[in-house]
Amino acid sequence: VVARKTERGAAEIGGVRISHADRPLWPEDANGPALTKQDLALYWQTVGEQAAPGIVGRPLAFVRCPDGIGGEQFFQKHLGRGMPEALHEAEADGAPYVAFADASGLVAAAQIAAVELHSWGSSEADPVHADRLVFDLDPGDGVTMPTIVQAAREVKQRLEAAGLAAFCRTSGGKGLHVVAPVRTKAGWDQVRAWCRAFAEAMEADAPGRFISTTRKKDRDGKILVDWLRNGLGSTAIASFSPRARPGAGVATPLAWREVTETLDPQVFNLRTIPARLARQKADPWEGFADEARDLPGISDKPARKK
Ligand code: ATP
Ligand code: MN
Ligand code: MN
Repeated sequence: VVARKTERGAAEIGGVRISHADRPLWPEDANGPALTKQDLALYWQTVGEQAAPGIVGRPLAFVRCPDGIGGEQFFQKHLGRGMPEALHEAEADGAPYVAFADASGLVAAAQIAAVELHSWGSSEADPVHADRLVFDLDPGDGVTMPTIVQAAREVKQRLEAAGLAAFCRTSGGKGLHVVAPVRTKAGWDQVRAWCRAFAEAMEADAPGRFISTTRKKDRDGKILVDWLRNGLGSTAIASFSPRARPGAGVATPLAWREVTETLDPQVFNLRTIPARLARQKADPWEGFADEARDLPGISDKPARKK
């Protein structure tokens, strides 16, 4: 992949003009030199094909870091003026989002220093119907990786018991996400209620290990089963998005055989993912879309008001 230098300080990557291409987004660290806007744009060009299914054509929100990850960060569901043509904004049922229709939008996102791409659990084609659920496992203080791994496997078992398929990814941060492809005629309110009940059942069965409410003070030593990623306009970090955190961790789809006690999410980062993809023989989430199943136990009628 080559970046063509255009005017001073700018580069053209995949047909998108990258201004201030050398501007650092992540500072130098023990694993390498600073990562620039150009590095981010080239990353997206390299991984775009694999990343597209979870990002392109889906409602998104951006975390923008115009001055790098050490500066102010803006969580944005709207675009300002002067945005690259590849990006657009829209809304569904009153909930605003940003999106793009093809992989050039990934590079355009780098151009506006949109470091993190967060996605809805539905597509732009049908935003009001979930096509995936995300259970976001958030460790409280003192919880170690093997315990989070155990929790992810338990979420998998429970989803499978409900007739759903389950896939795991790192979040690029501290926790893991378990993602279930679904197809449902039920609206987001019912899907959200289903996810809440799922998390509450985990807490009810093992209150010493799991919690389903976000009160931070009650989380010590437990894992929050965060079901709030599911809803109209709710987002979770998209697979392959880097994080605006030191080390440039990347939310990385894993095969379940990689989800073991020795899992170290930090090895999955902007510097390492292209090589991981190059050596991968099969997509760890192979068959994801084909495994979408109906959510059990909810009707497709709107919930009755109490
Ligand atoms: P970690 O593994 O460190 O928990 P994570 O991505 O799961 O990483 P969380 O804090 O658990 O981080 O989840 C935050 C989620 O909330 C994000 O994925 C994002 O999609 C969503 N979100 C909603 N509003 C905001 C906001 N203003 N800023 C950041 N994230 C937001
Ligand atoms: Mn989380
Ligand atoms: Mn969370």
